[in-house]
Amino acid sequence: MAIASINPVTGEVLKTFTPLTDEQLEYKLALADRTFATYKHTSFSDRTQWLSRAADILEAKKTEFGIIITLEMGKTLKSAIVEIEKCANLCRFYAEHAPQFLADTPATTDASRTLIRYQPMGIILAVMPWNFPFWQVFRFAVPCLMAGNVGLLKHASNVPQCALAIAEIFHAAGVPEGAFQTLLIGADRVAGLVADVRVKAATLTGSEPAGQSLAAIAGHHLKKVVLELGGSDPFIVLNSADLDLAVSTAVTARVMNNGQTCIAAKRFIIENAIADQFIAKFVEKFKALKIGDPMQSETDVGPLATPQILNELEAQVKATVDAGAKVLVGGYRLKKEGNFYAPTILADIPLGAPPHQEEFFGPVASVFRVKNIGEAIALANSTNFGLGASVWTNDQQEIELAIEQIEAGSVFVNSMVKSDPRVPFGGIKRSGYGRELGIEGIREFVNIKTIWIK
Ligand code: NAP
Repeated sequence: MAIASINPVTGEVLKTFTPLTDEQLEYKLALADRTFATYKHTSFSDRTQWLSRAADILEAKKTEFGIIITLEMGKTLKSAIVEIEKCANLCRFYAEHAPQFLADTPATTDASRTLIRYQPMGIILAVMPWNFPFWQVFRFAVPCLMAGNVGLLKHASNVPQCALAIAEIFHAAGVPEGAFQTLLIGADRVAGLVADVRVKAATLTGSEPAGQSLAAIAGHHLKKVVLELGGSDPFIVLNSADLDLAVSTAVTARVMNNGQTCIAAKRFIIENAIADQFIAKFVEKFKALKIGDPMQSETDVGPLATPQILNELEAQVKATVDAGAKVLVGGYRLKKEGNFYAPTILADIPLGAPPHQEEFFGPVASVFRVKNIGEAIALANSTNFGLGASVWTNDQQEIELAIEQIEAGSVFVNSMVKSDPRVPFGGIKRSGYGRELGIEGIREFVNIKTIWIK
């Protein structure tokens, strides 16, 4: 895949980039390695200052960075600006809490003194996707840098200007040059990096095939990996739910980021008694969505990031309809330039049709009717994914049942699934393993050293 910024609204190639030569890549790797030798000794107070300054820069230039995001991958400018604000918040969160998260932890044993110390590992490679081109990188980079590691970023090939801007932000904030670097390289160069003895661990956010490929190489070289992969999150609405709130949240949870979010609600599982009402309101709200230029403040849904994603989504909808599903709204690509797909709701979906097992990465909702919570949970758990789940009910027993039985990395009750620096984020099953964010996230890439003094 060429490294290029291509505007998804027009298809215009805005800028192309030449991948690093082998010599340039080696230079950056060696610089990262040298930098780690000194960076690991920097104080929490220095790291805190640098990341607080990074937060200031993000806040001061949020519109400028937001425009880069929108031009490269098509999310609405207003949501791109929110993404930048969220990154600033993340910097401040870890600047404040990392020293406490990584402080020596005493343990009680028969020794005179026992403790656990958290030490940095070295170079961590991050392979990142385009869908939240700042947020995904920051949620890796900030805990990585606070823990005393150094980071190398291989960003998705369609967001090179975001990748370069992020490295620039850290440098301008005072982070030493080799502690965070962007590598403009294609996916074919990742294996060599993972194999390199100087790279100690890797994290990948992206598709299943990419995760499998990286995990296989890392496994061969016995290196730790965190994987944040795809999802097909259920959004379960039961009879006692606040219906209007559930419907309006369902719309946001499906179409935010133009439908291209790993934790987007993708399968809407509705209890029979309220299904007709839910569906009628859901369809009405989808019809009212404004699709168009993501730079305009009134736009709700912009284009998909690339023509390939558009083609894939179109094929998935067609296969679902061919299998016998009904289209309640949408179901077509817009007849104009750009990667636009109409917000779509599918219903009466037969068993075996794509929404039962595949991730729909675009503004397409699949609706299912169920008899009761038991059936809802069984359907929710029937995919290979296990990222997040959202459950809507005011019945305490149902809440407990859902929390206990849903197979996912998170369950949100009467709320949409979201990531928040204060709590861990990640999946199970084929959605990946390991955690980002929270105390768990910063402890993924450290040597948890047991110290035993007799
Ligand atoms: P993708 O094609 O897997 O790309 C993600 C990153 O992996 C890019 O940097 C890509 O580089 C690289 N890559 C692709 N194939 C690779 C390989 N064989 N070896 C090493 N690296 C490889 O995914 P995407 O289409 O950009 O992103 C969408 C997917 O990401 C969805 O499935 C979504 O659910 C998932 N996602 C998950 C989370 C989460 O937190 N769980 C968050 C966001 C997105 P190139 O661009 O150069 O190909």
